[in-house]
Amino acid sequence: MKILIVGGVAGGASAAARLRRLSEKDEIIMFEKGEYISFANCGLPYYVGEIIQNRNKLLVQTVEGMGTRFNLDIRNWTEIVQINREAKTVTARKVATGEEYTEPYDKLILSPGASPIKPRIEGIEEAGNVYTLRNIPDTDRMKEKVDLEKPEKAVVIGGGFIGLEIAENLRERGVDVTIVDKSNQVMAPVDFEMAQIVHAHLRQKGVHLLLEENVSAILDEGKKVRLDSGKELDADMILLAIGVKPESMIAKEAGLEIGINGAIKVNEHMQTSDPSIYAVGDVIEVKDYIHGTDTYIPLAWPANRQGRLVADHIHGKEAVYHGTLGTSIAKVFDLSVASTGSNEKILKRQGVPYEVVHVTPNSHAGYYPGASQLNLKLIFDKETGRIYGAQAVGKEGVDKRIDVIATAIKGGMTVLDLPDIEIAYAPPYSSAKDPVNMAGYAATNIMEGMAETVQWHEIDEIVANGGYLLDVRSPGEVAKGAIKGSVNIPIDELRGRLDEIPKDKDLYVTCQVGMRGYLAARILEGNGISVKNLDGGYHLYSIVYK
Ligand SMILES: Cc1cc2nc3c(=O)[nH]c(=O)nc-3n(C[C@H](O)[C@H](O)[C@H](O)COP(=O)(O)OP(=O)(O)OC[C@H]3O[C@@H](n4cnc5c(N)ncnc54)[C@H](O)[C@@H]3O)c2cc1C
Repeated sequence: MKILIVGGVAGGASAAARLRRLSEKDEIIMFEKGEYISFANCGLPYYVGEIIQNRNKLLVQTVEGMGTRFNLDIRNWTEIVQINREAKTVTARKVATGEEYTEPYDKLILSPGASPIKPRIEGIEEAGNVYTLRNIPDTDRMKEKVDLEKPEKAVVIGGGFIGLEIAENLRERGVDVTIVDKSNQVMAPVDFEMAQIVHAHLRQKGVHLLLEENVSAILDEGKKVRLDSGKELDADMILLAIGVKPESMIAKEAGLEIGINGAIKVNEHMQTSDPSIYAVGDVIEVKDYIHGTDTYIPLAWPANRQGRLVADHIHGKEAVYHGTLGTSIAKVFDLSVASTGSNEKILKRQGVPYEVVHVTPNSHAGYYPGASQLNLKLIFDKETGRIYGAQAVGKEGVDKRIDVIATAIKGGMTVLDLPDIEIAYAPPYSSAKDPVNMAGYAATNIMEGMAETVQWHEIDEIVANGGYLLDVRSPGEVAKGAIKGSVNIPIDELRGRLDEIPKDKDLYVTCQVGMRGYLAARILEGNGISVKNLDGGYHLYSIVYK
């Protein structure tokens, strides 16, 4: 069998290696329009920031090394410019000479990825200091600028994970960084209140954050950036990180079916509308794992997984891709921010009813040095317990908790199963009740009718409309800040002061993170008084409103 692969990095290289492991006989040619194959895209920002100091470390495989190890014909500096489906050939163009030739295939695998979106902004063409980050040459250019010209000010347009990683790495190099994002938050995969923790941390690290701001023009050949609000920012360099678009042009021209965002439509075996052509990675539309709807989620795990599945399917294995959960994580200075599955924004768009719990336990046993607060949010179906998604922000243990919940989702577990996940425990790593267990308990309490909650965004209106909010923290805690209109009765005095609780009002209770509030709710419930607990307590409320 003769198999051609377009694109030699995540999806393409994974497919090539697996194909060879499955058969010594296939002729496999991998085309890559750039110089490098199988490089570490995800490591690029850290080379700019000199966290990764040796450039060679970014080159996971070389053309020679991989070619020999896997007996592949790797043709770098060669771009596929056309797919001729009738003839089952592709047209390849040598980048250096422009020389074109055709190459026949039995199977064709497309893994050309996605390119950074470059919007038409006034003045962008005249500016010589606008950078995007996708590959090694982009990285070299960006690093050279920082090394040689020592820019003082950078404007990063876009607060997604690549934008944030670039911002952090430039900051580490001493550059004064401003992030501009048209949304009201960075890191779209997490919800607004979780992003607030990231916003505060970015500002604490000296990054300027301009939200709900759009760039309207680039002035003075890139020395200034003008925003819709009229504000003007000085810039020695401008970094565009507003998202990516699939490199689907040759697929489109070949008449392959195209879906969301211009991404190639594939079936569960990654076959395009032409069964002898497969497509994987950032160029394809995927099924949302939770809802089964069409979506576009360009990430490295799916690309690698799909690359391998394609090789399996070509070799007659029952290889099925079940959809993408979108499990992702980013380091933002000292914080990690991670999520899996659907966030509230997606569920609202889909019109799916859901319930939320926030828990804020320690990352490991509080008495063991180094523990830090972990903000974990779980979103689920109150009727069935189905887990829709989770988000976590904190200094330690974020990856582990999101990975466990991602595994639980794919294993078909419900929130009722989360308390039963038996985790590895010793004080430096976790608590005997792990944060995932805690989130499971909190969700189980709601499902079993043991607890009713209200959310941070509801409580002000509730109090304004006459709801009675009882704050059960200590007076010392309350003195540091409390929700306007709340009444303080410390939890340990509650049983003795029940007669102070009004009988003619809707009752709500809060504490610092929701734990004592839940206990107070149980005490009140046991005395015939119904009450709802503020989920996440004053901690979560103050993250948003302080
Ligand atoms: C800076 C950065 C950081 C990232 N960090 C993360 C992260 O931390 N976690 C994560 O999950 N994902 C991350 N990603 C995304 C991840 O790298 C991609 O999802 C993944 O590489 C997609 O794999 P792919 O095979 O579809 O495309 P790519 O890995 O981009 O490979 C596509 C290759 O195809 C080549 N090509 C394109 N068209 C042609 C053609 N016509 N002919 C020949 N060759 C062609 C391109 O030159 C390119 O080298 C990051 C991406 C970037 C840019």
